[in-house]
Amino acid sequence: MRLPGLVDRISIRAQVMLATATLAIILVLSATIATALLGRRILSSITGNELTQLAEVMASRLDRGMFERYREIGTIAGLEMLRDVWERDPDTLRAVLDRMQFSYPDYAWIGYARKDGTVMAATKGMLEGASVAQRPWFMEGVQKAFAGDVHEALLLSKMLGPRTDSEPFRFVDVAYPVRNAAGEIIGVLGAHLSWDWATEVRQSLLIGESQTARADISILDSKGKVLLGRNLNSVMLTPQQLAMVRERPSGSGLAYGEDADQWLTGYAVGRGFRDYPGLDWLVIARLPVEVANRPVHELVGSILLIGIGLGIFGIAMARWLAGRVTRPIYRLSREADRIGRDAGVHTLPRVGGAREVMLLSQSLRSLLRRVGQAEHRLEEAEREAVAHEAETRELALDVERLRKLSETDPLTGLLNRRAFLATAERQVAYARRYDRALAVVVGDIDHFKRVNDTHGHAAGDAVIRAVASRLQTAARDTDLVARFGGEEFVVLLMESDITAAVSYAERARGLISAAPVQSETGAQVSVTLSLGCTILSPDDRDVQDAIDRADDALYSAKAAGRNRVRVSLHVLQDGGAAAAI
Ligand code: GH3
Ligand code: MG
Ligand code: MG
Repeated sequence: MRLPGLVDRISIRAQVMLATATLAIILVLSATIATALLGRRILSSITGNELTQLAEVMASRLDRGMFERYREIGTIAGLEMLRDVWERDPDTLRAVLDRMQFSYPDYAWIGYARKDGTVMAATKGMLEGASVAQRPWFMEGVQKAFAGDVHEALLLSKMLGPRTDSEPFRFVDVAYPVRNAAGEIIGVLGAHLSWDWATEVRQSLLIGESQTARADISILDSKGKVLLGRNLNSVMLTPQQLAMVRERPSGSGLAYGEDADQWLTGYAVGRGFRDYPGLDWLVIARLPVEVANRPVHELVGSILLIGIGLGIFGIAMARWLAGRVTRPIYRLSREADRIGRDAGVHTLPRVGGAREVMLLSQSLRSLLRRVGQAEHRLEEAEREAVAHEAETRELALDVERLRKLSETDPLTGLLNRRAFLATAERQVAYARRYDRALAVVVGDIDHFKRVNDTHGHAAGDAVIRAVASRLQTAARDTDLVARFGGEEFVVLLMESDITAAVSYAERARGLISAAPVQSETGAQVSVTLSLGCTILSPDDRDVQDAIDRADDALYSAKAAGRNRVRVSLHVLQDGGAAAAI
């Protein structure tokens, strides 16, 4: 399964540690498993060989022991010196036999039986007079040298008294025929060798510190019956196994006993020694697999311990190394982050560490230098732009100011003649197109020369300003009020017929005459205005025609005594009057 992005989200240090830990676990596990598998195989082979050797030594010692007893009995049976003693001197014979037993205590019994089976002399006088004619050793020994397999004591068991381990007395028999001077067999010298001897031999072999000293040794007779060891007297090998053992007198890996697979085995068959023919005893030495493998387990344990130690060391090293690599990167990141937040900082500290980190640091530093330069340029451009904008705004204001200046009369703030005419032309065009009424009123201050003459030019100016203001007050916002020069004014009234025009003119005249003008010198200057009214006629070529007509009316007002309103209307060419007062 793939976990998208998970690995990328883990820090480098964690990744390196994870990888090292995995590697360490894999290495330790494979080393342990390899050691366990190989060690077991090698050790079981070695142990098998050792066990085989042990079995061979045991078999050989048994054969040598038997050979010695065989030769001893043979030697005594053939002694020239004793030739006269066998038949006639049981006491001397008994003394000799006792001596023999004393010198080798594993002889449980040595005795001489006549040819008819009657025991003539025996160690400690045991069984003397009794018949052994039916005993196998006698029956065999009366014909030739004989070595007999292990058997339980029959006649002797009572005489030998109870054993400490409550097991039956068991013997191995050795018998030799005794001959007279003529070479005829006159009896049998037989000996019972206590089977405890074999136990002692086994004990002597199992002393020591070696692994095989803890082995279990069994002795089986040629038919597979247990003579020594567990499951005494039972047959423990299959005929196939017996056949195999006969074929190959020593080796390892013989499946033996219950839980055969829990044991490693080695075996050897005793095939006799010199003239002792041997009884084909099978010695089986075995060791629990668990015991045999103990060194492997110890080794595996050691490897595991060392491996874990090395693994921890490796992880610590990886952590340290990864830390060395990542620490400067973290530092760079922190610094870069700080630069990102703090507008004033543009330099990254030189970060030491691995070559790659130094390269990264250098690259970031040069990148930041470029960023710094770009920012600087941007700031300059912004400053320039702000300055430029201010300039532009200033310029626009200037233009506006100039425009206003060019359109207004400086003394009164009203429209000047030029601006009035331009706007009035547009209004005339509009009124004609939409058939709207448009009125023109012209005004001239009465006897203004006198004001100048009496109160001075400045007072005259104040009067002009006051009249302008009152004309403006009487008009609507949409009307155009202009000073045409000197003390003459023109007013264009939108959407107004002649009645509305006269009404306006009267209102203005009233306002002007109602209150005197306060001059700067403190003089109260009374002032009146004469006005002429007209409305736009279809025959007018332009607004100037209407102004001229209004001027005519003004003239009439002056002539009629000033401070009054007069109307002049155009007479249409088709004969009808355009309007009447
Ligand atoms: P009426 O119009 O009543 O016939 O008499 P008037 O005294 O007003 O006669 P007129 O129109 O001839 O006189 C105009 C005078 O206004 C002439 C000039 O000296 C004076 N004048 C013109 N422009 C200004 C100005 O801007 N300021 C001042 N103080 N006087 C001006
Ligand atoms: Mg005038
Ligand atoms: Mg005048």
